[in-house]
Amino acid sequence: MARKVFIAGNWKMNKTAAETVELCKALKEKFADICPNCVDVAVCPPFTSIAAAIAELKGSNIKVGAQNIHWADNGAFTGEISGAMLKEMGVEYVIIGHSERRQYFGETDETVNKRLQAALKYDLKPIVCIGETLDEREGGKTEAVLEKQIKGAFAGIKECCFKKVVIAYEPVWAIGTGKTATPEMAEETHKFIRKVCAELYGEALAEEAVIQYGGSMKPENSQQLVAQKDIDGGLIGGAALKADSFHDLVKNAIA
Ligand code: PEP
Repeated sequence: MARKVFIAGNWKMNKTAAETVELCKALKEKFADICPNCVDVAVCPPFTSIAAAIAELKGSNIKVGAQNIHWADNGAFTGEISGAMLKEMGVEYVIIGHSERRQYFGETDETVNKRLQAALKYDLKPIVCIGETLDEREGGKTEAVLEKQIKGAFAGIKECCFKKVVIAYEPVWAIGTGKTATPEMAEETHKFIRKVCAELYGEALAEEAVIQYGGSMKPENSQQLVAQKDIDGGLIGGAALKADSFHDLVKNAIA
């Protein structure tokens, strides 16, 4: 079965609720010419803008995700948001383990695993982020780092659940820097990620897994990247913050 392209925008800590309404109105209009059978599209605003995005994008071909989830159902976890809270709002996707969370907020493979279990429990579609730093790539450690992140994230996750997970490969050195991995370099790494998934879950399930690329993807390079055999879409930061660039990136990716 051919994998469907999936492109998600990670808005990070950008867009107030009022700005979200404005951007979503523009997205809804722009994306009317994108065939929902060819690509799945989602945007992931900050928690405070999720309700506005869901209301504004109702009836469109754009889904809404969150940028994080806590592993507990409820309790004394000041500042955190649970799966039940996200589900009740109508959220469909959730980003887990983004490198900025790993770098600034103490996210580890273990907490990624706990958040992943919570997302699956609440029937949210997880986008699990992995990726190496520049030092790790230059030190020849890319594959070891990715293998550890994958095995850590998926510890105890059964085959039936693995099927529901999207993996986003985001080389940390390419995020927000304008430095994109070349399509060939990204493809080689995606192939390796699929190989590790095959070791864990078998060839057939690994073949079906959707693996996004993230790191300075833009309208100018989305076609070449997504044309690679093992690259199934993108997780987009900067280029997702404007309706024109997000639309053109998606349109080119499926051209
Ligand atoms: C991201 O934050 O997930 C990302 C890929 O950012 P950018 O597209 O800006 O590099």
